[in-house]
Amino acid sequence: MSRVWNFSAGPAVLPEEVLVQVRHELLDYQGSGMSVMEMSHRGKEFMGILETAEADLRELLSVPTNYKVLFMQGGAIAENAIIPLNLLGNKTVADYVVTGYWSVKSEREARKYCTVNIAARGDKCVPALNTWKISPDSAYLFVCTNETIDGVEYSFAPDLAVLGKPDLPIVADMSSHLLSRPVDISKYGVIFGGAQKNIGPAGLTIVIVRDDLLGLAQTGCPSAFDFKTVADNGSMYNTPPTFAIYVAGLVFKWLKNKGGLSAIEQVNIRKAKMLYDCIDSSSGFYTNNIERISRSRMNVPFTLKNEALQEVFLAESKVAGLVQLKGHKSVGGLRASIYNAMPEAGVQALVDFMQEFAKVRA
Ligand code: PMP
Repeated sequence: MSRVWNFSAGPAVLPEEVLVQVRHELLDYQGSGMSVMEMSHRGKEFMGILETAEADLRELLSVPTNYKVLFMQGGAIAENAIIPLNLLGNKTVADYVVTGYWSVKSEREARKYCTVNIAARGDKCVPALNTWKISPDSAYLFVCTNETIDGVEYSFAPDLAVLGKPDLPIVADMSSHLLSRPVDISKYGVIFGGAQKNIGPAGLTIVIVRDDLLGLAQTGCPSAFDFKTVADNGSMYNTPPTFAIYVAGLVFKWLKNKGGLSAIEQVNIRKAKMLYDCIDSSSGFYTNNIERISRSRMNVPFTLKNEALQEVFLAESKVAGLVQLKGHKSVGGLRASIYNAMPEAGVQALVDFMQEFAKVRA
């Protein structure tokens, strides 16, 4: 068996140790005589898996006690509707900060439910906080703190007190960088993310929601998507994605063994530096044109000066065991996603390939 270096934006590489453990436990989970996929979600084995996963996630992220952790489904795209359905209350306006493909998608979906005010727009950058124009009576402010396609990441947690709005809840789509660095949960009203990047298999959506934002859902909100209903039922209102939760739980243990989020952040900083240094020192052979401070540590898009070489780059990198480097169809170019589970050796292999490719073709 040989594993490739997988730079997919998601579903993405998982820690090899986790996959080995999954294989080991696949037919007989800890003496139960069955796979986690086959057991009742209400049985003691799975209840144990869920409780441990939640406790470990809370510990990793230092989730304050006045926040609920929900294990949901529908992915981040469903959250784009679930958020207004849960948070508008009796208000009719919501603020959105647009920084790329995914925040555009979010604000477009929200328009089905409310009036959207674009508080700020960033092109290849996160707009400076003091330029944000928040509407007088909005229900929440939405941000996407890591734009997976554009490669734009917030380097700060927005502090709306600076804008005279200390009580406006911030909703953050953290799909593609949740667990890559410590985050001050108390700065946000709701944080959500699809699991299939840094957390586990597709099919699981993590939602972290402050208690006072529960119970505001519109009457038309499907019960399975009402945060309060899901919270009151311990993420068991409907059958949760049991296998995805089990694998995510193993990833949480793996992260704790690595030293938690401060430790993995240091590794992520090193990996991102290796790759951006390679791009920036290529004399224009490779380009990443995102504002320096807003460059994503997780998703690194880049282009080749000579676009005609792109297919050659993809073909040769694949032969070298480096896969899924094609950029999203909406922006083109190339992209390397370097989530927690991508070892430093994988990024080094990519950098070595890129340097050699540039040397031969320059
Ligand atoms: N938001 C962000 C930041 C994403 O990266 C993605 C998936 N790439 C989505 C939303 C959509 O997620 P899903 O397909 O799981 O609904």
